[in-house]
Amino acid sequence: MSKKALITGITGQDGAYLAQFLLSKGYEVHGMARRSSSSDVNTARLKWLGIERDVRIVDGNLLDLSGLIRTVSDIKPDEVYNLAAQSFVFSSWQQPLLTGEVTALGVTNVLEALRIAKPDARFYQASSSEMYGLVQHPIQSEKTPFYPRSPYAVAKLYGHWITVNYRESFGIHASSGILFNHESPLRGIEFVTRKVTDAVAKIKLGLDRELRLGNIEAKRDWGHARDYVQAMWLMLQQDKADDYVVATGRTSTVRMMCEIAFEHVGLNVNDHLVIDEKLFRPAEVEILLGDPAKAKEKLGWEAKTTLEEMIREMVDADIARHKKA
Ligand code: NDP
Ligand code: GDP
Repeated sequence: MSKKALITGITGQDGAYLAQFLLSKGYEVHGMARRSSSSDVNTARLKWLGIERDVRIVDGNLLDLSGLIRTVSDIKPDEVYNLAAQSFVFSSWQQPLLTGEVTALGVTNVLEALRIAKPDARFYQASSSEMYGLVQHPIQSEKTPFYPRSPYAVAKLYGHWITVNYRESFGIHASSGILFNHESPLRGIEFVTRKVTDAVAKIKLGLDRELRLGNIEAKRDWGHARDYVQAMWLMLQQDKADDYVVATGRTSTVRMMCEIAFEHVGLNVNDHLVIDEKLFRPAEVEILLGDPAKAKEKLGWEAKTTLEEMIREMVDADIARHKKA
């Protein structure tokens, strides 16, 4: 009998890569997706990976507890990966209440569904390095205190602690992965890496001339989503649930990331980059740099893809997309 996994947020970047990875391991993969009038948009990432027919999609929303309970009762998953969230930091100032409902309380809804309908299922919570915010230590590990700097990060902090609490209160095998930024050709276009690679592709093809960005001195520890979803799975294979930082251990500025993208197609970033004050955030996370030592030691996990390799892959994918369009 193959193992069953339920992924919330299956239509997102990580949902798609995780589904692909679990299918390769022989899992029966169920994915929860919000009903949309544009179902083709919903499955675009799964189609990109060629797995849309292999995943079983179930209609649902993180805000709908009874639906979640029904889904968990019907599927009886061995593993539940809670990836669904209002995941964009910038939007979280515009929609702070929705962000709190989905990204924070939504986690409790999923945990409640498990507690009621399948308490022995293993649970993964998609926590975030944004929780470190105004960093309290130059290199962030599982022991570094949190200091969230956006409604998104505050909501993720709730999600993190409620996961720890359900583990300690009810013995649920619930793990929290504190993942640093991870990207791919499937990254949402609103995030800075994909915004840059898409713009570089358009500029190279003569479809655009400039790229407008906000704070290009911000530093991030960027890895590849394909590598990071493997760490999620490894966490649920451990005898004991725990919390893990997943990162590369290298940090780069947004400017450096742009340079990699422009250089890849033989262009100079300074000829196209425009700084736009409107894109600066009310409170910024200036630097993130993770210490993945625990994940390496306990899970045997390490990031494989360099920032250069990933950005080049993303630029090439965006060029191919625009040529096809
Ligand atoms: P995406 O934004 O690509 O995907 C988010 C997913 O959540 C989408 O499938 C979206 O559905 C779904 N979703 C949003 N609201 C609801 C809701 N109310 N009910 C059900 N589903 C909902 O994010 P990623 O794949 O990049 O990230 C996955 C998770 O990891 C997120 O929780 C994110 O916050 C977290 N994370 C991501 C990091 C990163 O660098 N990528 C870093 C650290 C944490 P729809 O398609 O309908 O919008
Ligand atoms: P985040 O770390 O989850 O907020 O991921 P993002 O990719 O959205 O942002 C990473 C960093 O890039 C942040 O410090 C942003 O302030 C910075 N940044 C600079 N310009 C932009 C922009 O135009 N869009 C986005 N999304 N981020 C930008």
